Amino acid sequence: MTGTTLIKNGTILTAEEEYRGDILIRGEKISVIADEIIPEKGWEVLDASGMYVMPGGVDQHVHFSFNYKGSKVRGFETSHAAAVGGTTTLIEFVNQEQGKGLVESIQDYIKSDVDGIAMVDYAFHSVMTDPRDEVIEEIPKLAEAGFPTMKLFMAYKGMFFHADDDTILKALKKGRAAGMTIMVHAENAEMIDVLSKELIREGKTEPYYHAVSRPPVVEAEATRRAIYLAELADAPLYVVHVSCKEAMEIIREAYSKGQQVYGETCSHYLVLDREDLAKPNFEGAKYVCSPALRTQEHRDALWEAIDKKWLNAVSSDHCGFDWKEQKHMGFGDGKSFADIPNGAPSLQNRMNILWTYGVCEGKISRQRFVDLACTMPARINGLEGKGHIGVGYDGDVVLFDPSYEGVISVKNNLEDVDFCPFEGFVQKGRADTVLLRGQVIVKNGQYVGQKGQGKLIHGKPYGDSYK
Ligand SMILES: [Zn+2]
Repeated sequence: MTGTTLIKNGTILTAEEEYRGDILIRGEKISVIADEIIPEKGWEVLDASGMYVMPGGVDQHVHFSFNYKGSKVRGFETSHAAAVGGTTTLIEFVNQEQGKGLVESIQDYIKSDVDGIAMVDYAFHSVMTDPRDEVIEEIPKLAEAGFPTMKLFMAYKGMFFHADDDTILKALKKGRAAGMTIMVHAENAEMIDVLSKELIREGKTEPYYHAVSRPPVVEAEATRRAIYLAELADAPLYVVHVSCKEAMEIIREAYSKGQQVYGETCSHYLVLDREDLAKPNFEGAKYVCSPALRTQEHRDALWEAIDKKWLNAVSSDHCGFDWKEQKHMGFGDGKSFADIPNGAPSLQNRMNILWTYGVCEGKISRQRFVDLACTMPARINGLEGKGHIGVGYDGDVVLFDPSYEGVISVKNNLEDVDFCPFEGFVQKGRADTVLLRGQVIVKNGQYVGQKGQGKLIHGKPYGDSYK
C-alpha cells in the first residue's frame, strides 16, 4: 500500500517549463502541485533541495524478449536497471510467435516472462512476423487490447521477422482504421545482403565490416520507401532508431510537407562512433547494432534534430547480448560480422548520456531533455498518465541530482550484461530518488524496490503521430 508522499523544495522540470514547487502524491497519483505544501502527520516527506524534480523516463524501445538463433537476451529480471537510470516505464517489442495470434503472443509472454518479475511499468509494441491474411485482420484487436503500436523490420533478409513491402502496406492500411501507429526498422535488406556477401567473400569478416555492409544509403532508401508506403496508405508512420543525417532529413522533409511521419534516435547514435567497431581483439563486436554506428557528421545532425524537434524521442534500443558468449557467435573460422547478434545494452544509461552530453554540453535544454526522454515517448504510445509532472498523472517522479559526478562502468550496472558500450564515459548528474506510482524504488541512486512492482500500462490508440 502506498500512503501520501510530499516532495518539497525541488525545481520541477517539464517539457515546457521549470519552476519551484512542492508535489503531493496520494496513493499512486500526483494530487497537488503548489508553491508550498505544509506537511501533515503521517506523510512521508522527501527533501528535493538542489534537485530537479522531473517525470519518470519512458523508454519506448527495449528488447527483452529477443531470441536470435536460439540465443536469448536478458529480460525483465534486469528491469531495475531502467529504474536507477531514471526510467519508470519501458515499452518493449514482442515478436509474434509462429502459429500464434498477435495479441495472444503478447499475453503469453506477459504470463511467462513479465508478470511478477517487472520492476518498472511496461507496455508493448507488437512485431508481426507471420503476415497471413487472418493475422492482418487481427491488427485492430491489438489496439482494442491496449497495444496500439506495431513494428515491422524492413532489414534482416531471410530472418523470420523480416517484413516485405506488401506486409508493411497492408499493416499501414489496416492499422490506420484502428488508430494503430506503425513503426519501421528502416534498412534495405537486399542492399545489406549483397554488400555482406561481397565483403565476406573478400575475407573482410571483422566486426568493423558490419558498418561497411550497411552504410547510410541503406537506411535512407528504406526510410524513403516506408514514407511512400505510408503516403499511399494515408497512414502515420514512425521510424525507429534513426542513425544518419540522410534518413533524418527525409523524415523532416515529409513532415514539413504535412505528412504524419516522425522518428526517434537512440543514445548510442549520439555519442558512439563507427571507429568503435574497429577496436582490436573482437572488442568491436560490442558495438554491432543496427543501423550501424556513424561518424561525427551524423552525430552533429542528430543532436540538431532532437534540439529542433525534427526527431521527437531518444530511446535506448536496449538489447542485452553478452560479449563473451553471444557476440562471439561471429568469432573464429568461417564466422563473420554477419553472425554477431545485433544490439547493445543501454537501458540504464539512456538518460545519463542525454543529460551529460546533451544538457551539460549545451546541445539541448532541460525542457527538451524531459520532452525527448519522458513526455513524447508517453504521448507517441498513448500512455496517458505517464511522462509528465501534472495533477492526475501517475506519481512516477525522479529527484535528479545535477551535482553528481561519476564514471559509467559495467561494474555498477544492473543490466547483467558483461559489457557496457559507454564504459569509461564521464557521467554528470543522476537519478538520486525514483518513485514509481508513489512508491520509492530508488534511494541514493540504489535500487530499493521489489520484483513484480511494475504493472502493465495499456496504450490508447490514435497516439501522437495522428495529431
Ligand atoms: Zn530495436
